[in-house]
Amino acid sequence: MELLQQKIREQGIIKEGNILKVDMFLNHQMDVQLFYEMGKEWARLFKDKEITKILTIEASGIGIACCAALSFDNIPVVFAKKSQGANMDSNVYSVKVDSFTKKKTFDVAVAKKYLLPEDKVLIIDDFLANGCAVRGMMKLIKLAGAELVGVGIAIEKGFQEGGRELREEGIQVESLAIVESMNAATNEIVFR
Ligand code: 5GP
Repeated sequence: MELLQQKIREQGIIKEGNILKVDMFLNHQMDVQLFYEMGKEWARLFKDKEITKILTIEASGIGIACCAALSFDNIPVVFAKKSQGANMDSNVYSVKVDSFTKKKTFDVAVAKKYLLPEDKVLIIDDFLANGCAVRGMMKLIKLAGAELVGVGIAIEKGFQEGGRELREEGIQVESLAIVESMNAATNEIVFR
């Protein structure tokens, strides 16, 4: 998506450890008009899929998922909540997720009543790197007996393995910008 690539080029900052900072429009200050355009694109890419729910993960997925929902047919957004310890509450599905940026493992949970066996779920998230966040959400969908329809990602770091592995499993992954390489010294970013 050209508009998103342009924003990343203009405002993205490459940090040590293969981290792309896009706080200016995505992870802190939020360009809601851009989010709306991104949502329209996902709605086009998944248009025949009869999606009943969008699942994302707090915090940065929430804004883009909510804007995306506006372009779908009145479907709710559910976000997986992060918690410190394992969740023993029998009313929730809970899984562990390794955080790429924070280098630690945390538990995420969704109330069982918000993820149902009849749901056809689209996962949406801000970044795809090694795929841990998406895999965590896929586990929640599986625990609920629901169906994964596909994955919508704003920025995929194509030089990490997550996207390739998911596609090899036959999952429809639609990333609106795929970064092929990025150079922290020059701040140069090449898109696929
Ligand atoms: P993964 O779980 O696929 O390894 O990493 C994706 C998750 O880590 C996303 O939910 C995102 O919050 C965070 N993340 C991974 N790489 C980056 C990055 O380069 N920049 C930012 N801002 N977040 C990232």
